[in-house]
Amino acid sequence: MPEPRTHTCTCGQMTWRIAEKAKGTHLVCYCADCQTYANTLDNGACRVDSDGGTEIFQTLPAHFTFLAGKNHLAVLRLGPKGILRWYAGCCGTPVANTLPGPGLPFVGAVLPPGTDGYGPITAFISTVGTAPHIKETGVLAAQLSIIGRILRACLPGGKRASPFFGPDKAPVVTPRVLSKRERNAARPG
Ligand SMILES: [Zn+2]
Ligand SMILES: [Zn+2]
Repeated sequence: MPEPRTHTCTCGQMTWRIAEKAKGTHLVCYCADCQTYANTLDNGACRVDSDGGTEIFQTLPAHFTFLAGKNHLAVLRLGPKGILRWYAGCCGTPVANTLPGPGLPFVGAVLPPGTDGYGPITAFISTVGTAPHIKETGVLAAQLSIIGRILRACLPGGKRASPFFGPDKAPVVTPRVLSKRERNAARPG
């Protein structure tokens, strides 16, 4: 049995864990950007479901720990202003999304579809346009929980640490920004 909330990239060199007690929101995002990220990496590790949805657990980055192979960590942005989309550079397995800086502590860990251990899925977001047969639900609750977690983390003594940013507040790896052409080539049809 694999450890709960422990994930390994497809090639096995990188392992990360989300604290078992970490609270968060378990959702599926159907937006074109999440699919573009998955398509760009396209490593054969299926990280989107049959409707193009990406399973995500949103929590604080302080709950996220790399156990092995962090030297393989890589990051891309779909455009110059895009969020940071982290992945295992060794084999292209998606890992997580963060904001561009550590100021607002937030991570959306990308889970293989059907992962156990994160409680029920409580939101289906950005279905309009890409998966219109799925009803969008739980958006407001998901947003409020993000805001609540960030505010609590920003209080004195709050959990502000992040394995994705250095003490200089820069990402620990320099992001690769996709060109418009690369991005368009990877967008869902
Ligand atoms: Zn790998
Ligand atoms: Zn998305």
